[in-house]
Amino acid sequence: MLARIPQLQRLMETPHAQALCRSFRREDAVVAIRREIAGVRRRLLAGQRDLPDFLSAEFFGPVRESLARQQRASLSRVINATGVVLHTNLGRAPLAPEALDAIDAAAAGYANLEFDLDSGERGTRYAHVEALLCRLTGAEAALVVNNCAAAVLLALMALAAPGEVIVSRGELIEIGGAFRMPEVIAQSGARLVEVGATNKTRLADYADAIGPDTRMILKSHPSNYRIVGFAAQPERRALGELARERGLVFVEDLGSGTLVDLRRFGLPHEPTVQECVAEGGAGALVTFSGDKLLGGPQAGIVVGGAAEVARLKAHPLLRALRIDKLSLAALEATLRLYEAPEPADRSVPVLRMLAEERPSIARRARRLAKRLSSLPGVRCATRDGTSLVGGGSLPGTGVPTCLVTLDVVRDGVALSADDLARRLRAQRPAVIGRIVDDRVALDVRTVAARDLPDIVRAVGGACA
Ligand SMILES: *Cc1c(COP(=O)(O)O)cnc(C)c1O
Repeated sequence: MLARIPQLQRLMETPHAQALCRSFRREDAVVAIRREIAGVRRRLLAGQRDLPDFLSAEFFGPVRESLARQQRASLSRVINATGVVLHTNLGRAPLAPEALDAIDAAAAGYANLEFDLDSGERGTRYAHVEALLCRLTGAEAALVVNNCAAAVLLALMALAAPGEVIVSRGELIEIGGAFRMPEVIAQSGARLVEVGATNKTRLADYADAIGPDTRMILKSHPSNYRIVGFAAQPERRALGELARERGLVFVEDLGSGTLVDLRRFGLPHEPTVQECVAEGGAGALVTFSGDKLLGGPQAGIVVGGAAEVARLKAHPLLRALRIDKLSLAALEATLRLYEAPEPADRSVPVLRMLAEERPSIARRARRLAKRLSSLPGVRCATRDGTSLVGGGSLPGTGVPTCLVTLDVVRDGVALSADDLARRLRAQRPAVIGRIVDDRVALDVRTVAARDLPDIVRAVGGACA
């Protein structure tokens, strides 16, 4: 049997192989055909009795499929029907059209990234957003880097290392992707001094821990967990004052920093960046992400005292953490939306999604359910649910939303929720929902009206 497998050379001359070489690179076609031959050989050795027809689509069909799969973009658009507005695995914040235009303008050609158009001399990339950030947050100075993790690392390296940094035991956070505060501090070259207990830390705990090597008090936002009950942390105002009195820097890592009061979306109050800057006081620094509640691109933002920011700007490793021009362009455009006359709740997609009221979501859900119900084998219902903010912000809190639940019968058999979810992920664009009471549920809060035809197509594809 094995001897009847044709030589690769001979297969390459067949019309099917020739056609493959017109659609794909010849090298790739050769590798794929060789892999398919190896598969046939393996199956024969495992006891299979018949050979495929090497001249037909029976043999070449799978080869073409694997080549097509390999050519398909890996990073691609998906439809987020999870209702998690800042879904870290789905790319966090979608950008506003203004931010996309800015990326286009900066990236398609050349830009004054590090060129001062007034003097005609070398400029700095950091200048493009510094004044804007100062106006929006009330800070004296600002710096942007690659992400918030980089901002924290840079602050520690420039202002604490090799000295000590004091952190409350209730705030030794781990953020998704293994960003662990104790480990980041160790990597920065600073020494961690833990104070207090998991649930309670007092101002005196910080004060008692200050020694000759202490350089910084670091407060971090417990983004993805909450300590409830008998729990307390000192006020940031008091921490800022203590730091100033003792000649230390006070840094607050906010993570998902917001410029707007979240209470207007029915969410619990989160201190805004402006509040943290004001309460931290002179010389304090606040770090936050560009792509969490701010609703911009991946970036890490540091705002606060001018002397402290100047030391970050002078650090030799800033270069390794710097923001790229695409993100910078998108960040500037996003920040400008907060200064525009139109409220940011309407122009920044993340805020718009959080601000949308349930009746408006329910109307879109009914429209979607109606269109989906016209597909053969599909039954839909709408029901109430809760959308989450996500992105390591406001754990355990959400906003009321409307879900579309799906029941699909295929060849007379009901698809399980897991099977349907997998089929929806296999479509392009993939549709990512969640599973509620053993049913696939699409949370329409994070689904735009323009996504509806793609969802209908995907569900149709999943049923086919
Ligand atoms: C999310 C988060 C970070 C990391 O932010 P990235 O922008 O993802 O690097 C750091 N600290 C806190 C408190 C966070 O919530």
